[in-house]
Amino acid sequence: MLKNGLFPIRRRTGTADFHLSKKAVTLTVRELEQLDERDAVLLLATMSWGSCEEMACPHCGTFDRHYWYEKELRWKCTACDAKFSVTSGTVLASRKLPVRTILRVAFEWMNGAAGKAALEIRRNWGFSYPTHYTLLQKLREGLVRGYNVGMLVGYIEMDGMDVNGRRYKEKRNRPQITGAGKRPSMPVQLLAPKVDPDTGEITSMGPPKPVKYDKTSRQHPDRRQLLVVRVRSAAKGGGAVRTRIAVALRETSDTVTRLATSSISAESFIHTDEDPAYAKFVSLYAGHKTVTHSKMYVAPDGTNNNQAECLNARMRRSVEQIYLNVSNKYLNDYACENAWRDDTRRTSNGDRLKHLMRLALSVGLSQFWRGYTHGKHRSHEMLIEGPKPAKPRGRRVGWEPMPAR
Ligand SMILES: [Zn+2]
Repeated sequence: MLKNGLFPIRRRTGTADFHLSKKAVTLTVRELEQLDERDAVLLLATMSWGSCEEMACPHCGTFDRHYWYEKELRWKCTACDAKFSVTSGTVLASRKLPVRTILRVAFEWMNGAAGKAALEIRRNWGFSYPTHYTLLQKLREGLVRGYNVGMLVGYIEMDGMDVNGRRYKEKRNRPQITGAGKRPSMPVQLLAPKVDPDTGEITSMGPPKPVKYDKTSRQHPDRRQLLVVRVRSAAKGGGAVRTRIAVALRETSDTVTRLATSSISAESFIHTDEDPAYAKFVSLYAGHKTVTHSKMYVAPDGTNNNQAECLNARMRRSVEQIYLNVSNKYLNDYACENAWRDDTRRTSNGDRLKHLMRLALSVGLSQFWRGYTHGKHRSHEMLIEGPKPAKPRGRRVGWEPMPAR
């Protein structure tokens, strides 16, 4: 904070300029509408394989110019004689929707900044809810199994964030303050900054923060920690460029080290907040610096993990304001989606759709969503501590409707 009590204005990074520029929009709904099914299949083939003329047969792996069957919109392998379509052997195998519809739904979903709910897309398209839901989840599966992988190296930021498990019961059945005369007045602390009498510096602004006394024991059992690892761009002002995430029960030394050793290479330099869970990193990596978040966002030497916080903010917007009620069972999938959305924030929408479809079609058959509409559901949460049986959804045993008044 500056001496006069004002905050320095943050420098613009150019993301807003990018989104308003021509190069941000290279594909539109109007262009996708003009495609017939043949064009859509060939476009998806080019997105997935880089070519619609030469590709590897999904049955035997032979790379060749396979025979194209114009009427069937499929290819026949020159080596094994098996026929295959653009979605054979991928998460979209045995699809019911035509490719042009899949492309347009994926495009609509991908264009959202922090996500787009399946119900909202359903209101635009009108297929059954499971059709939309499983299609979006299969696109997410591509990100879980195709994007949230690999080792990061460079200047890394790491952070944890609380998701789900709000202690709403503590607030239930308390009287709400109503009536004009009873409204709480503006706290004086917000109006008058506290000034240190010796130095004349402003020590605090805003209301006093609640004491974090015994926070862990009061936490809701459904609370999860989203652990975020992000690598900074080498270019100044470039922000974060690549992310790995994991969901944990707690942000402990064990869980953060597990994620770090599986996703960060040892020659990296790591920035975190002052949480003692990260103390081990000094001996594990080339460097480790911390910023004391209770006092500042950026340490005097420039240490900060604001890129990791940036993803936290997008994740919060996504689960609390767009998707609403994301269950812990699928939290990992939604977090991967937001990591991808944030990493590709300065990519044109045409390239983004290409990237999304390439990832979705590169991970093989769906392991999470095949047979979903026939009752085959994921039974566990994907946690860094290991799989945990998921909480059943629906009404509690013994639930009864509220009696009529
Ligand atoms: Zn073949």
